Amino acid sequence: MLRITNAVLPGEAGTATVTVEDGRITAIDPSAGVARPPAGEDAGGHETVDAGGGLLLPGLINAHAHIDKTLYGGPWVSAPQVETVAERVAHERRHRDTYGLPSQDYISALVEAMVAVGTTRVRTHTDVDPGVGLRGITAVAEVAQRYRGVIDIEQVAFPQGGLITNPGTLDLLRDAVAAGATVIGGLDPAGFDDAPNAHLEAVFDLAATTGTGIDIHLHDGGSLGAWEMGLIARMTQEYGLGGRVAVSHAFGIAHPPTQARLLERFAEAGVALVNAAVYDAPVPPLRACADLGVLLAGGTDGINDLWGPFGDGDMLRRAMLIAYRNSGRSDDELELAFDTVTTNAARVLGIDDHGLAVGGPADLVVVDARSVAEAVAKVPERRLVLKAGAVVARDGAFAGRGHG
Ligand SMILES: [Zn+2]
Repeated sequence: MLRITNAVLPGEAGTATVTVEDGRITAIDPSAGVARPPAGEDAGGHETVDAGGGLLLPGLINAHAHIDKTLYGGPWVSAPQVETVAERVAHERRHRDTYGLPSQDYISALVEAMVAVGTTRVRTHTDVDPGVGLRGITAVAEVAQRYRGVIDIEQVAFPQGGLITNPGTLDLLRDAVAAGATVIGGLDPAGFDDAPNAHLEAVFDLAATTGTGIDIHLHDGGSLGAWEMGLIARMTQEYGLGGRVAVSHAFGIAHPPTQARLLERFAEAGVALVNAAVYDAPVPPLRACADLGVLLAGGTDGINDLWGPFGDGDMLRRAMLIAYRNSGRSDDELELAFDTVTTNAARVLGIDDHGLAVGGPADLVVVDARSVAEAVAKVPERRLVLKAGAVVARDGAFAGRGHG
């Protein structure tokens, strides 16, 4: 049993003691002013961690990353100044072997950096194509195994190099599921793969037959992207996959003539949105998604890779960016942004009990802030990070125990 004492809970006055057993929260006791045992072990052998009056938050969740591609902890490599997704994919195909990608060393370095800033769960899109085969899937799975109990890593089998236009990829996606991927990815069915119906049918058929979820990259903007999203909503209903389908990036959602209607269709069909607020790309509307009941989750997208130089894996900073890109200023808007990297992200990943509640997982973060809004606005240091009740980071430094 573990007791976290002297913790401030969001929206509550005073401090509380949170009790954790078998990785879950078993009690939340608003015990301000009650004498508490000092940090360490008490006479009953119960461990106590002092939150020092810091704000206790649920563990942060990254709903969209590409950890297989990262150069984190490796050499500094300039990213190309190119404009299109196709050019970036081609650049990556030309250079990934040169830098030894995918690299378990870089992936591990990034995973530790993510944990250090409070990420307790991540969904990562892993490249699968005839060139790299399942090397990315295997590398990420081995790192995931090494950090079991420190962070949960879910893999999307991602046809980054195309699906219909890249023969052999579909079979590899099936193999990737057998190797542990739990979600099927897709990529601009029209704009990149030039076969929207065939692309989406392949993805939906594979998900339906393997019992996996779907998470489709959609950079196609304007009316083309909006049309593809309409198709995805319709297919989600036809295949009975509501609640298991997400569209990532979804630049076309910003297309004003169709935005409200599309959001209504997504709410009705059970299609979620995942956004990383990257560069100056359009972002889904935070407030409208919440009002219309569309699940909007946050992710980092790629971090320090051949696509771009940025990123540190910090989901609180990402919540800040999501709020900022939505011109959010009020506390409730900052709280909506926080939801995108906690509760909403958890639900997109199929986790329904994430949060500060009895019975929920003891994935927890302590920060120096007085409210969720302040935490999003100021991005303070993570004093303490717990995964399933075990301390995995302290004062912004990784303190987890990797396996082997
Ligand atoms: Zn992505």
